Amino acid sequence: MTDASETAPLQTGEWLELVVEADREAIESVAELFGRFGYNEGVVIEEPFKQDPDGDNLAVDVTKPVRVRTYLPAESIDDETIEAIRSGLWSLGLIRPVGELVVERRKEEDWANTWKEFYRPVKVGTKTVVRPPWLEYEAGHDEIVVVLDPGMAFGNGTHHTTRLALIGLETMIEPGMTVYDGGTGSGILAIAAAKLGAKHVDGVDIDPVSVRTAIENVERNELGIPVHLETGSIGQGEPFDGVEYDLVLANIIARILIELNEGIVARVKPGGILVLSGIIENREEETRAIYEQYPLDFIERRQEEDWVSIVYRKRALSRG
Ligand code: SAH
Repeated sequence: MTDASETAPLQTGEWLELVVEADREAIESVAELFGRFGYNEGVVIEEPFKQDPDGDNLAVDVTKPVRVRTYLPAESIDDETIEAIRSGLWSLGLIRPVGELVVERRKEEDWANTWKEFYRPVKVGTKTVVRPPWLEYEAGHDEIVVVLDPGMAFGNGTHHTTRLALIGLETMIEPGMTVYDGGTGSGILAIAAAKLGAKHVDGVDIDPVSVRTAIENVERNELGIPVHLETGSIGQGEPFDGVEYDLVLANIIARILIELNEGIVARVKPGGILVLSGIIENREEETRAIYEQYPLDFIERRQEEDWVSIVYRKRALSRG
């Protein structure tokens, strides 16, 4: 089983939390701007929710502005960066309402906790519901529930790229498969794979803080199958180099999918499935051109807004 003590210790430090309220139509541009500066390109989009006093009928309140947040490590950020962000927001504000940028210093522990204010159970794929540990949720027929405290890792289920990867997983997985999760983040896909019937899941993330968070999430879900998550860069001397899996997930931005193509494809068994996600639409063609040089047969493609995921099957070895 996994052992949290094997991963690198959390660095403690101060973070700058950037928050701005924006009109729905401006969210994508604000998120894009924040993503350019945010740690790990991480951006949190905080939808205002409304619900009945008894907690029922939880829904997004479209009458309220949305809050967008990002976090930057304080020691590596100077005033000029903040000014660049402020002026970027100001330009966006000329087109659509964008509020004042609020910058707060936060200790690492606070950062992990800010998620909790707004994080709710969400149906992510077609079967998977993600719930935070501090809330109850009664699973419906045919639903699996992933208990997840994303802390500082990417992957709370609300991002399109996570949803697309999860839907690819839900569609392609068969009980008893072995699964590899490249860029595990919060561990969301690894945990869902286990709950959907995988017999063994391995995964890596280049970010030790994510791996530690993911391991805690795995433990929380009491999966009952071996799940090994380690720090490493896919195909670059990571612990699972040389191992092949029935199903490989890689939800990472296009640039990295392109850069690491060899290592990613090498993780897939002949006859196995590869789910790529995190591809921004305008880099789809380039990404596909790289992957389609391999013996990979295209199975399907999904898109949500600007984000694309692609599913391939690796050709089985020919006999004789
Ligand atoms: N699987 C999660 C998280 C995706 S975010 C989800 O679907 O929501 C992408 C993750 O890939 C980040 O956690 C990032 O740290 C990791 N990553 C980036 N480059 C990597 C590399 N070279 N090797 C392994 N992981 C990497």
